[in-house]
Amino acid sequence: MSDSRFYAVEKASNREVLPITPPQAKTSEYFGCLVFNRKAMAKHLSKETFKAVTAAIDNGEPVSLELAAHVAPAMRLWAMENGATHYSHWFHPLTEGTAEKHDAFVEHDGQGGMIEEFSGKILAQQEPDASSFPNGGLRSTFEARGYSAWDPSSPAFIMGDTLYIPTIFISFSGETLDYKAPLLKSLAAVNKAAVGVCRYFSTDVTRVQTSLGWEQEYFLVDEELYNARPDLILTGRTLMGHESAKNQQLEDHYFGAIPRRVLAFMQELEYECWKLGIPVKTRHNEVAPNQFELAPIYEECNLACDHNLLCMMMMREVARRHRFRILLHEKPFKGINGSGKHNNWSLSTNTGVNLFSPGKNSMENLRFITFIVNALMALYRNNGMIKASIASASNAHRLGANEAPPAIISSFLGRQISEVLDAFEKSSVDDAITMDSKKQIKLGVGQIPEILVDNTDRNRTSPFAFTGNRFEFRAVGSSANCASAMTALNAALAYQLKEFKTEVDALIAKGQNKKEALYTVLKKYIKESKPIRYDGNGYSDEWKKLAAKRGLDCETSVPLIYDAYTSPLSQKVFANGSIHSKKELETRNEVKWEIYVKKIQIEARVLGDLAHNHVIPIAIRYQSSLLENVARLKAIFSEKKFEELSKEQIRLITAINEHMTAVTEESDKMLDARKAANLITDPRSRAIAYHDTVLPCFDTIRYHIDKLELLIDNEIWPLPKYRELFFVR
Ligand code: ADP
Ligand code: MG
Repeated sequence: MSDSRFYAVEKASNREVLPITPPQAKTSEYFGCLVFNRKAMAKHLSKETFKAVTAAIDNGEPVSLELAAHVAPAMRLWAMENGATHYSHWFHPLTEGTAEKHDAFVEHDGQGGMIEEFSGKILAQQEPDASSFPNGGLRSTFEARGYSAWDPSSPAFIMGDTLYIPTIFISFSGETLDYKAPLLKSLAAVNKAAVGVCRYFSTDVTRVQTSLGWEQEYFLVDEELYNARPDLILTGRTLMGHESAKNQQLEDHYFGAIPRRVLAFMQELEYECWKLGIPVKTRHNEVAPNQFELAPIYEECNLACDHNLLCMMMMREVARRHRFRILLHEKPFKGINGSGKHNNWSLSTNTGVNLFSPGKNSMENLRFITFIVNALMALYRNNGMIKASIASASNAHRLGANEAPPAIISSFLGRQISEVLDAFEKSSVDDAITMDSKKQIKLGVGQIPEILVDNTDRNRTSPFAFTGNRFEFRAVGSSANCASAMTALNAALAYQLKEFKTEVDALIAKGQNKKEALYTVLKKYIKESKPIRYDGNGYSDEWKKLAAKRGLDCETSVPLIYDAYTSPLSQKVFANGSIHSKKELETRNEVKWEIYVKKIQIEARVLGDLAHNHVIPIAIRYQSSLLENVARLKAIFSEKKFEELSKEQIRLITAINEHMTAVTEESDKMLDARKAANLITDPRSRAIAYHDTVLPCFDTIRYHIDKLELLIDNEIWPLPKYRELFFVR
């Protein structure tokens, strides 16, 4: 009898629901109260310092050490007023997590006592002992120095007793070792290139901002059940588990009533997020059982990325308070939907124009077409690299399956925009471009107001869909740092816009007027980028064939997908705006391959352990009880009667044996494959070996373990089953 499972299931089903106690105050009264935002800065900084800091932020310029010296003491006083005793530079290393090291605000006062202190130098720069962060060989250990440097464009905030200062993380020799630094560079590159292109349409545009609205999917599991699953604890996903008889077939979970215990979790999470200035807005059940989604209102891209990371931290913490564990893994369970992040991406100008929004007149619509077409071109030319930006060992489970964007990047524009582009391709400069951005339909039902129809249809199978005034990049993994995908998109677009401007200017120099030149290049791009446009079913085999014919990147092996980062075009794209040097691209790929290997390696070990010390012993125990039963039958009954009575047991005994043998043999094969792969020193080749020889063993081992789960007495099965993980509240 396996106590742990029954104990866990019993505890989980008797879980008391925490009372739902909405905060007394209105959200607007405490929103951002733990953030050193403009309001707090205005209160705590002198007028000149406030002006200088906000100007630096708005213009994307660095804050001088002298200015930091004025900000630091004010920041400390504000933090202490709000209960902080410590500070930490907060950075985003290539592990996909966040890193922090706390220091107290204390210094010797010279007389045996202590004073609180926090200098501008410490605010601006730190040197964490960074030798253990992934760096792909950029820093040899004797020179294990990395610097974190303050990012004033993302405001400092307080969590617990600590003031968190968002920072970038770079090596001694200036290479970036994190996700934020390249993101900031890519945002600057988009700004520069987009402003240049906007000038064809308006001279007032001086700044273009990139926005991101992320939608975060996640699973919740009861903590007792989680604790009884070593695979969930160590790898974030279940490596075995037979499908539950009921899972998501009835589609009764999607948008269903939110279970009370989950609602209590969501409310507390929202409360914590609002205090941290994260504008979370939407919450709902997702398709799979125990799967949910949270989305904020979109924000400036860098801030939105930080907020997503912060929110994921908060989710983990608040889930624990409600005796849940949160699963941010892309595919925690086989047979039901996995989790992603949808990154809604748009550009807007300082004049208040969304560049992915149709306008009111012909020139505004030409601007709209310009940006849509350039985004498509950027996606088309860089589709392999953009896929690489979201590829990971965990996201790979999702990308192939029929529930998430496929492992081929394409774009869905919707009927209306597709028709506009097709018409544009055939138009002449003198044709006016008119289109209703919103079509109204009258429903004729008295009490229901007129509904505005979006000018896009929905296509859930497209990884990159145009949704009215933004592109929605849906292939991002639920556990990923949004910055990776956003940096790739921004870099690709910035480079594309720059090329576009060069081409248009060249035609103007040759004597074409501006409009003619724009038309000429746009028409050429519309033709050229057609292969990336696909409005059909992205899950179909037909599309896979067609995409290959169209020359799109169809690679499915994650280690090979990463190669696209160092292609000749990628090198040019990332050199624009110094987002990444060639060396950086290479070393970052090394890190990706290493992480890939480690993830598969850990999973292989956990799978091997569980097979050998959880599953096989239980299978043997059950088989022994059957054998004992058979022996007793033999002792009591005649030969003929015995044959009749023992038939079923013997069939079971044999079946168990077959599955056990298969598990053992395949585990041995997996072990040998790992040993061989570990001997390979080149990170890329090692990752390929793990993908090609270790990973394929998982499915076979799992298949036989899942069969054993069905055969073996429910009472002694050692792990919580899917039906328990899904439906026990
Ligand atoms: P869904 O795609 O599920 O219908 P919503 O329409 O609620 O979801 O929007 C999803 C996300 O897109 C939200 O974070 C929202 O703020 C964001 N969003 C809306 N408009 C824009 C925009 N112009 N640019 C970037 N993000 C946007
Ligand atoms: Mg969406």
